[in-house]
Parts: sequence; structure tokens; C-alpha cells
Amino acid sequence: MSARILVVDDVPANVKLLEARLSAEYFDVMTASNGTEALALASRAECDIILLDVMMPDMDGFEVCRRLKTDPATHHIPVVMVTALDSPADRNRGLEAGADDFLTKPVSDVVLIARVRSLTRLKMMTDELRMRAITSLEIGMQAPERSAVADTGRGGRILLVDDRQSSYERLATILAAEHTIDVEPNPTEALFHAAEGNYDLLIVSLDLNNFDGLRLCSQARSLERTRHVPILAIADPENSTRLLRGLEIGVNDYLLRPIDKTELLARARTQIRRRRYTDHLRDNVQNSIEMAITDALTGLHNRRYMESHLATLAEQASTRGKPLALMILDIDYFKSINDNYGHDAGDDVLREFAVRVRKSIRGIDLAYRYGGEEFVIVMPETDLHVAGMVAERLRRSIAGEPFAVHKGTKRIEVTISIGLTTLEQKGEAVADVLKRADTALYRAKHDGRNRVVSQAA
Ligand code: GH3
Ligand code: MG
Ligand code: MG
Repeated sequence: MSARILVVDDVPANVKLLEARLSAEYFDVMTASNGTEALALASRAECDIILLDVMMPDMDGFEVCRRLKTDPATHHIPVVMVTALDSPADRNRGLEAGADDFLTKPVSDVVLIARVRSLTRLKMMTDELRMRAITSLEIGMQAPERSAVADTGRGGRILLVDDRQSSYERLATILAAEHTIDVEPNPTEALFHAAEGNYDLLIVSLDLNNFDGLRLCSQARSLERTRHVPILAIADPENSTRLLRGLEIGVNDYLLRPIDKTELLARARTQIRRRRYTDHLRDNVQNSIEMAITDALTGLHNRRYMESHLATLAEQASTRGKPLALMILDIDYFKSINDNYGHDAGDDVLREFAVRVRKSIRGIDLAYRYGGEEFVIVMPETDLHVAGMVAERLRRSIAGEPFAVHKGTKRIEVTISIGLTTLEQKGEAVADVLKRADTALYRAKHDGRNRVVSQAA
């Protein structure tokens, strides 16, 4: 997929030059000649990366960047400042404004394309996560954008891999002002250390003695526990071509020695902020997956999950030649509990019912809320006889102890009826098993409720 790059510069010749180079690499290019226009385009989410000139009339690049990075709608778009000014002070102003990187005019082709490619990969990954996390916003979870914009990027956990004592002592002292920092001078230990330490950032020297720092970076990228941890590489200027290789294999950012203190801190903060934001998105995705399969009132699996899961369980049982028991449980006269004690009391009963169900079944059994006051329990590797004993124990655990409602001020008698059956024939449709259990349940109700009826296949 080709990324769309927004080039912002007030000098038409500069715009043309960057546009030509990027187009030659099949990037999709759009342009703006001032800050206001750039902000408008970006807020319509029409670009993946922004190349931003610093010196422009009216609103300069620093201000445009600051606005992009404080707006929840645009803060995640990587911004590369393109500047003729290359003093550390200028770089730091841009980094303070939230810029992701710098390119110095005249821009080298190789560096330009390497940076744009690496930021494109990052943006695509973030977009994918954002898209999935949108679902969780729709069901009322907190927008990660808000905390991302407010995050200072301080207070991170950093692992520094560097075997030159004078170098790592200096870097560690600088970073310790804002973060917790561990130093690993032994590169062969570094990967293990990184995987164990739950770090927000790895800083890796590429000038290690007898060790290829890029190999470490690439290993960190492929290892499950470190693949999402950002990597900041540092190198001597004569190693700068290796830095470009690094960007290709997943290094997120780099610094050349001698390392400027403010720039190091700013780049570390940018990476840590980004890491926290994507972690937050990932958590939201995870939560929304859980919410999608869980019944909110009881915490049991919901019907949607049951429908997809039950087919898998039935198939497993058939292929392994094992029995599978299924029961439908229905609370007796539940409507009158609502009518007599209120809907809240009804909810209390449903919650407590779920607690008792969980206590009565084994770890491999599955309980689902099937409908309002109907539940399904599925028991792998269980025959009708054993399942009948479990069902009877469950029935007693409900009828034997009144349910506390209204914060424990009232106790009410509750009973359940259970219809039970097993999957017997190979390849029997799940719907038929459910129907047989439902018929058994109907008989339990008909015969007077508070009982278990088993129906062999
Ligand atoms: P039976 O013994 O034949 O099962 O009678 P019943 O009253 O339990 O069955 P019926 O299906 O007539 O009524 C079920 C009631 O459950 C109706 C509905 O309002 C109530 N209900 C469904 N979901 C919930 C819920 O989440 N909370 C509460 N409090 N009530 C619910
Ligand atoms: Mg009922
Ligand atoms: Mg019912």
C-alpha cells in the first residue's frame, strides 16, 4: 500500500523537488503552501506523513507542528521537519513541538526515502490499531487520544545497550533526569534483558565491540516480547549508512554522536509517548474483543460467543469420539421475582446465579447466558449420567440457599429447571442438540419445575 505524503513549503521550487522524488518512489503526494492549508488538509485525515518546512511566513513550521501534535485528530500523524537551519537549538525547538524527525536541506535522496518508508510502516500499524479501537469507543471506552495528547513522555523505562563505559555513563546520567534507566554493557545478554524488563524504549549503540548492534535490533523486532518496544539507535557518524539499514529493519529513530543532551531527551520522549499510545490502543482492542464475547451483567460468555464456540466444541468431540453434554437452565417464575421485588432484585439474582454456576462447574466446562434468565452449560468429555449428577448438584445449590437482594436486606427463594442432553451422533448439528435440551427443559417446567430432565440422543 502506498502512503500519502503531505509536503508543506512556501517556496514552490522546494515543493516540486520533494514531490518529484517521492512520486518517483510511488508515494502519493499532496502539497500545501502554508500552515493553515496544511492543518486543514491534515485534520481531514488525508495524509499519512507530513514533511514540513520550518521557515514560512504567517505561521512557521514549529507552530504548525505544535498544533498538529496537540489536536487529538492529528497527533498520530508523523511529522518530519525539513529545514535549512541545522543547529541543535533549532532541532530541539522542533522536537519540543513534537516533530518525529528532521531532514536538513538540501535533502539527501537516500535519507529522505529511508525515513519516509520507516515512518510509513509505523503509521500503517498505528492506523490498523486505531481502526480496531474505534469499535471500543463506540461501546463507551475512553478515547486513547486524550491521554496521548496529555502524555509528557517522561517517566519511561529504558534499557541502554552500550559497551563503552564513558559513553553509557554519560547517556545514563542524561536520561536518568526523566526516566528509569538500566544499562546493559554485554550485548549477548541484551536481548534476554530486554525481553524480561518490560521496557518502553531500547537504546542500542551500533558501535559495539565485536558485536553487530543491528543484529540485536532485528532480533528484538522478531521476538514476541520486544517487537513493540521502540528502538533508538546511536552511532558514530562514519557508521551512518548502517543507520539507514537499521531503519529498514525496524529501528524507529537514531542519533549520531556526539550526542546532544536535549535532542536525546526529546527523541526518547517522542518514542515513549508513541509506545504508550499504541499500547493503549492495543489494550482497547483487547478489551473490546472481551466485551464482544462477554455478558455485561453476569460476566459469563454471551450467546453470540456460544454460537460460534459451540460448533467448535461439537466438532472436537465428534472427531475425538468423546461425549459432550449440554444443558439449558431456566430460572422458575423469574417474571414474578421482577414483579414482586423489582428489576434490580431480578438483576441481583442473575448475578448471584452466575456466581453459583461458576462454583459448580469444572474449568473446562463453559457457561453462557443464552437469553434473559436462560443459561447454557456445555461439558466436554462428559456422559449423560455424570452430567445428570452435575445438573442435580446445580439445582440444589440454587434451591438450597435463598438469594440475597436489595443489598442483603431481603432474601428470596429461587429455583431452576434444567433440560439436559448429550451430543451422540457424529456430526450432529448443534441446533439439534439445543432443541433436544430445550424439549427436556419444557418437560421439567411442565412436570412442576425445580427439577432436572435428561433426554438421551
Ligand atoms: P418460567 O418458570 O416458565 O420460566 O417463568 P418465567 O417467569 O421465569 O419466564 P418468562 O419467560 O415468562 O419470564 C422471564 C422474565 O425475565 C421476563 C423478563 O422481563 C425477565 N428478564 C429478562 N432479562 C432480564 C434481566 O436482564 N434482568 C431482569 N431483572 N429481568 C430480566
Ligand atoms: Mg424462567
Ligand atoms: Mg424463560
